[in-house]
This record gives sequence, C-alpha cells and structure tokens, in this order.
Amino acid sequence: MSEITTRLEAIQKRIALARERSPYHQDVTLVAVTKFHPISEMKEVIAQGITQIGENRVQEMEEKFELLTEKVTWNLQGHLQRNKVKKAVAMADLIQSGDSIDILKEIDKRAGQIDKVQDILLEFNISGEETKTGISPHDFEEAVEVAKTLPHIKVVGLMCMAPEFGDLEQTRPVFKEGRQLFEKLKQRFPEGQVSILSMGMSHDFEIAIEEGATMVRVGTSIFGERVYR
Ligand SMILES: *Cc1c(COP(=O)(O)O)cnc(C)c1O
Repeated sequence: MSEITTRLEAIQKRIALARERSPYHQDVTLVAVTKFHPISEMKEVIAQGITQIGENRVQEMEEKFELLTEKVTWNLQGHLQRNKVKKAVAMADLIQSGDSIDILKEIDKRAGQIDKVQDILLEFNISGEETKTGISPHDFEEAVEVAKTLPHIKVVGLMCMAPEFGDLEQTRPVFKEGRQLFEKLKQRFPEGQVSILSMGMSHDFEIAIEEGATMVRVGTSIFGERVYR
C-alpha cells in the first residue's frame, strides 16, 4: 500500500472516531486538499474513493481541472481576488471562501453571466486574527441579508478556521462558535439549504468534528508537507 493510501486510511479512521465522540452524530465529508500536490497523488486518493478535492488558487485549479479526467467535486477554498472570480465560477462546484460581501456580489454577477447558481459557503473570521480573511461575526446579519438578495449564489453553509494554537484545546471555543453561527445560518434560509459546516484541517480536525463540523479539509496529513514552488 502506498504511503498516501495508508495515511488516508488513518485519517478516515480518526474521522470516524471523532464522529462517535461528537454529540451531533453528524455525517462528515472529507475534502482532500491537494494544493501543491501533483495530479498523480490526486489520482491515488480518488482511486481510494475520495470525490471531494480542495484547491486554494484558481490558476492551480485550472491546470488540474484540464488534466484530471476523473469526475470529482471541486472545492475552492482560498481567498479569491475579484479578477479571478470569473474563472472560479466556471470551475468550482463549491466556493468555500465567500469571505466578504464584495466577493459575494462579484460571484453573483459572474455566475449570472453563465446562468449558474453558485453554491457557496460564507467564511467567517471568528478569532478576529488580522492575517485571516473572512466576514466578521458582527457582520453576520448584513452578510445574510445581502446574500439573500443575490439570485446567482446559494448559501449552503459556513466555513471557518481556528488559529494555530500551541495548545490544541484552545481551538475548541472557536469551533463552538462556528457551530453556533451555523445553527443561526440554517434558520435564515429555507429548510435543508444550509447543511455544510466546513471546519478542521490536518492538525485540528478531530476537535472540529467533536464540535459539529460536517466537512473537514485535510491536506498535509494525507499528502505530506507541501513543497512551495
Ligand atoms: C491549506 C488549507 C487546508 C489544508 O491544510 P492542512 O493543514 O494541509 O491540512 C484547509 N483549509 C484551507 C482553507 C487551506 O488553505
């Protein structure tokens, strides 16, 4: 068995165990974050049943989108520049980085031009870290109100990240708040529309699941360290 397959299986086991510890008993979807990893490695996890691929940059997604023959679900999760939105909307099944009202409007505009309704997650910056993008929880109402007026975006959930704390337990309150915002978000849209709570990465996905994540985005723990080109 390849190293990637071994690591993937280990992650899947840990996800299952974390889920048992969660009071929500939710289903958890694993997004394999393949940024900076080659197509050959993507194919390995796809052969193991992975269908959700996560990329951060439009250009890299574009290159892979052209090359990958397997049918997968493309998640775009990196901060989007306005001038990349047109391409993003042409490829992404789910844009997880709906991180400002401006970008929501741009996504709506570009999706409208190709008659698409783009599934998106609202990304919140819960910890208030200045280095992170995301909508402030204080602007929750405004973001929801604006999103509701945009016919070519469909809010299907919420994404958030925890800061990198030395002590992992410190991520827990951030994920708890993520879950609370998710519950609030569900109330604001038609029944069943908001179903994705995307939180948790390689180092903190177990705590995120314990706090109710329905989707985790894992790269390094499956593919190893990224080599930045
Ligand atoms: C890179 C990235 C991930 C994956 O991070 P790992 O630590 O490699 O698991 C998840 N989510 C986002 C938004 C990322 O940018």
